[in-house]
Amino acid sequence: MSLPSLKDFRGEQIEMVCHRCDRYGSYDRNALVKKFGARTEFVELRRIMAIGCDRRGTDQCEARFPCLLAANILIEGKR
Ligand SMILES: [Zn+2]
Repeated sequence: MSLPSLKDFRGEQIEMVCHRCDRYGSYDRNALVKKFGARTEFVELRRIMAIGCDRRGTDQCEARFPCLLAANILIEGKR
C-alpha cells in the first residue's frame, strides 16, 4: 500500500500547522502539484514544508495537515 499523495486530496487549499514551532501555512494544491508532481507523498511534502520549523526533523516538530485529517486521510502508515 502506498502512502497518500497529492492526487489523493481534492481540496483547493492544503494547510499545514505546527503547534510546537508556532507555524501555519496555507498552500494552493494546484501550485504544489505543478511544483512537485501529483505523486508527491504527503510525508515528503511535510518534510519540505517544515523547512521553516525550528525543530524540523526531530520528534519535537509536529507539522501536520489538518485538512487531511478532516478528509480522513492518514498520511502515515503504522507508527
Ligand atoms: Zn515544527
